[in-house]
Parts: sequence; structure tokens; C-alpha cells
Amino acid sequence: MNAIVAPVAAVATPLDNAERFERALGPALAATGPFSLVEAHRADVAATISPAALARLHDLEFPMSLVPAEWGGQRRDFHHLLDLARCLTRRQVALMPATMYGIGPLCALDIAGTEAQRAQALIDTREGRPIIFALSEADAGSDLQTGVTTAEQADDGWRLHGRKWMLGSTAAARHAAVLARSGDAGPAGLSLFWTRLDRGAGARDLPATNVVGMRGIDFGGLVFEGLAVSSEACIGAPGRGLELTLLCQQPVKLLSTAANLGASESALRCAVDWASTARAGRKLTAMAHVRHMLAGAFADLLLLEAVSVTGARALSWLPGQCSILTAAAKHAALMQSERILAACGKVLATRALMRDLPWHGLYERVCRDLAMVQAIDTNPVVNLRGVGTQLDALALRLDSTKSPNLPQELFGFDDACPAPRLRDLQVVNRGGDALAESLPSLIEQVADNRAIEPRLRAGVVAELERFAALRRQLLGGRGALRAALGAGYAGSSALIEQAERYLRVHLAACATQVWLRNGSADDEAWLLLALRRLRQGDSADRGDPDPELDEAVWARLASLTKTQASYSQRPIQLSLHG
Ligand SMILES: Cc1cc2nc3c(=O)[nH]c(=O)nc-3n(C[C@H](O)[C@H](O)[C@H](O)COP(=O)(O)OP(=O)(O)OC[C@H]3O[C@@H](n4cnc5c(N)ncnc54)[C@H](O)[C@@H]3O)c2cc1C
Repeated sequence: MNAIVAPVAAVATPLDNAERFERALGPALAATGPFSLVEAHRADVAATISPAALARLHDLEFPMSLVPAEWGGQRRDFHHLLDLARCLTRRQVALMPATMYGIGPLCALDIAGTEAQRAQALIDTREGRPIIFALSEADAGSDLQTGVTTAEQADDGWRLHGRKWMLGSTAAARHAAVLARSGDAGPAGLSLFWTRLDRGAGARDLPATNVVGMRGIDFGGLVFEGLAVSSEACIGAPGRGLELTLLCQQPVKLLSTAANLGASESALRCAVDWASTARAGRKLTAMAHVRHMLAGAFADLLLLEAVSVTGARALSWLPGQCSILTAAAKHAALMQSERILAACGKVLATRALMRDLPWHGLYERVCRDLAMVQAIDTNPVVNLRGVGTQLDALALRLDSTKSPNLPQELFGFDDACPAPRLRDLQVVNRGGDALAESLPSLIEQVADNRAIEPRLRAGVVAELERFAALRRQLLGGRGALRAALGAGYAGSSALIEQAERYLRVHLAACATQVWLRNGSADDEAWLLLALRRLRQGDSADRGDPDPELDEAVWARLASLTKTQASYSQRPIQLSLHG
């Protein structure tokens, strides 16, 4: 069992918690300032990252929050990291890749690196250099096994040959973790190499790719032309490369949800602000349908928050099940932020198309940035496929009457979180999916909880029963699951559909657990709206309106807006106007 990491350093620093960090960033809506929305707009138009913002984050030692404390960094747990990253992405998504790109290699070194490799990574991070996770190749796509980068054995180590693409800001990097084939065909022939990028001696940078969003980040590439790496360069044993990569993609994809959380929250705040301001004697929020759309988007955001925070905490509390939990968070991040942006776009209407209005064109920039986030770690379809391949094993526990082992600290936003246990991550889930398995007992807990307003209680129970039935239907049809699995890597359309439906069950259970643990009387309505929308999917906005529920959720959203608090189950005070 891990010791609980001391939550606050002896001397308080801006990185201690999100509210302090938020204050250190300065007011978002001020006319100047490195983290103001004016500056984010200017940097986006110029396709740069503000040097003043980078310098300030460096002074605050923000990048050190990625490096484990045991080897000299300041990383505590992923919930803390998610909260800090979310402060950045509320302002500008590109600040996250600009400062956090090293997370994948750092996780690989945390799991299997040597002291010397970790020491070099610490120095690079301290100096503000990106560390590159060089996995993808243009022609291989998500199937990393088809990559053609090789590591040839030499007397003094290895020689790398190949070409990697879409890597963040390679020009400034000194080291990369490079996935290359060092052995036979098949998954055990791939290794991950801690590589010093000696330009001119076998490593060359490729120019940045011209992309639509996260402008200022150079999505460049690397070419290896016989680059020499030492015999100690392998991270873990030779042949562990694919396994390590798949393990590291779990914390990486979880952390990427901070982009969806922060950016879609700001888009929603911008839309609420726009709609609540009277112009020519009218306010858009005077219309029930506008309130309905904004309330739905808010409920979608709180569900996403519940799942992301749970996934982050699970890296400490339940690492063996993170292949499902982090994939669920990634899926929810894409699905929910798309829906939030769609609702905000409808409310902002013509203004949604403008590059400088309102809030310095925040909405339009966020749409482009979040389009990039879709593919940043794992392709969304491939993410679903990864869940699909685990469904048959999860079905074995369908009729289990044993209560799942689910630490309650997983869901308490205010509870201390131990250090992450990345060495206990598993490529595929062997411990079941305790979240979805908790549904039957969860239904009883909600039904018995007299503190919940009766109409809400009945509504939530009814929704959860539908999700429980969906789980039985999906996992009960093992013949269909096995047929889908048997179709192999390329023939898995049914598997992807089943995974998408299964994740709705997981998300419903997760959101309800978080709601039970963190809810208060003035914000309890969101869950029912979020569950209904989750069940209805794309037709959510066309479903039967429930004005009473809409108004309760809208009241909470309006109140958080008025007090300049974050849109969260545990709101923090935002720094908007100073
Ligand atoms: C912003 C950004 C940052 C990135 N950063 C990095 C980085 O740091 N390091 C790095 O190595 N790479 C990075 N990448 C590359 C990234 O990981 C790519 O997504 C990867 O190369 C996969 O390619 P692809 O998304 O084009 O999808 P492909 O795998 O080519 O898939 C295209 C489509 O084919 C279908 N498909 C593919 N496989 C399956 C399947 N098994 N089952 C069903 N359908 C399937 C899906 O519809 C999918 O959308 C980054 C990409 C972006 C956009």
C-alpha cells in the first residue's frame, strides 16, 4: 500500500492546488497578461506560444509537477495534475502540450527506467525541454506493430533507422523515447529506447506539420539514419516496448481529458456570459430553450468531470482496472466536449463563427484545438476497440453476486490521493470493471437514500435500471461478442459499437458514485439530466423536455457563473476580471 503523499508542502506554492495556480495565472479577461484570453488569441493568430507564458510556467516550476517526487520532481497524483492542467486549458489548450508533452516518456521511465535515464529526464524537464514520445509513423497509423523503424544490434549498442511523425516540438528536445523493432515480427519484437537526439550524427528533425489547431506547437517529426544508442538505452527489457507503450498511454490519455474539460468549460462560460447579457432589450437566457441547451451542456460537463477525476484517482487507487477507466475517460472527453461545443455553438450562433468575438474568439479557437485533442494519444475508434477486446472477459463476472472491490476514496474529490501506482497498470483488465459491476448495489444505495429529493431519486433509479439492463444485454450475448472478437483487428465493427454502448453503462455508474460522494442539495439535479442525455445519445436535445429539471440545473449554472466559480462539483474561485 502506498503512503499518502503529504498534500501541502511546508511552504505554500502556487502549485499546491488549483485555486492558487489559477490566481498565479492572473485574470483571464484582463486587457493584458501572459495567460489572458487576449494573449491566447494573439498567440493563436501568430501561431506561437507566448514566451512570457512559458517563462512564467517555468518560474512556477510547473513542468516539474510531471516528474515523480522520488526522483526529484513534484508530481503528487494525477487528480492534482489534472486540476492544474485544467487551469491552463481554460485559458489556452496549446499551453498543455507546450509544457506537458513529456508525460508519456516520464511514465515509461517511472515504470521501467534506470536511475541514469530518470536523471537525464529530470534535467530536461527542469530546463523546460520537451521530451518526445516517438511512436507513430505516417503510414502505420494506430497499429504500432506495422511501424518500420528498426533498432539494429551493434557491438556497442543499437543503431536506429526510421521516421516518426506528429511529435510535439521536436526541435527543442534533447531526448526521446523511441519505439523501434529490435527483434522478430510480432508484439514482442518491439522495444522502447531512451534516445539522445544527436543531430548531425544520425538524427534529423522534420519540419512542423501544418495543422488547424494548437497553433504554436510544432508537430514535427524525427528521422533516424543509423543513430547510435547505447546498450543501456532500452527502457525495460528488449521486447517490452509495445507493452510499455500501451501502459503509458493510459495515464497519457487520462491527462489529455484536461484539455476537453478546461476548454469546453470556457466555451460554456463564454456562451452563458453572451446569452445572459442584455442587448437591445433582450437576453437570450430569457428563452426556455436556450436555458435547456446550456443546462444540458453543464450536465454533460459534470459527467465528464466525474469520469476524468475518477480515472485520475484510479491511477492511484485501482491501477489494475485503468485500461477500462482511462479509455472510458478519453471516450467521455470526446463525446461530451463535442456535445458541449455543439450546444454552445447553437447559442452563440453567428458569433460562433467569428475569430475575435466574443471573448477574443475563444469558441472558434477551442473548436480547432479540441479537434486536435481527438487524435493526440490514441485514435478515438481504436480507443473503443481496446475496450471491445476486453468485453468478453468482463462478461465472466456478469452474474457474480460478490460486491466489487471499490475503494470509496476513489470518488471523494476532497480525499487525499496516494502516489500513482503505474507499475501496477495492466494492458488488459484482469480485475473486472468494478464501476459497472457496482450498478446493482448502486441502485439500492440511491433507492434507500432518503436525503435525495424523491422525484430525483426515482428518476435516477429508473435510469440506472436501464443501464443495468443494457449491461446484461451486452455482456449476456457472449456469442455475439466472441464473433466480433474473432473478426480480428480489421474486422471489428460490431465490437466498436458494443464497446461504445458498454462505456455508457460504465460512465453512468461512475457519475452516480461521484454524485453520491460529492453532491450537495443545491447541485444534485445535474446527474439525472446527465444520465438521460447519456442514454439518449445524439437525440438528447430532441428528447421530451423536462422543464423542472432544466431549471434546477440552470439555476446552479447561473449561480456558479455569477460568483465566477468553476463549473465543477467542487468549484474553485476563478480569476476572470481580477
Ligand atoms: C495533436 C496530435 C499529437 C500527436 N502526438 C503524438 C506524439 O507525441 N507521439 C506520437 O508518436 N504520435 C503522436 N500523434 C500521432 C497520433 O498518435 C496518430 O493519431 C496516430 O498516428 C494514428 O493515426 P491516425 O489518427 O491517423 O489513425 P489511423 O490509425 O490511421 O486510423 C484512421 C481511421 O481508421 C479506422 N481504424 C484504424 N484502426 C482501426 C481498428 N483497429 N479498428 C477499427 N477502425 C480502425 C478509424 O476509423 C480511424 O479513425 C499525434 C497526433 C495528433 C493529432
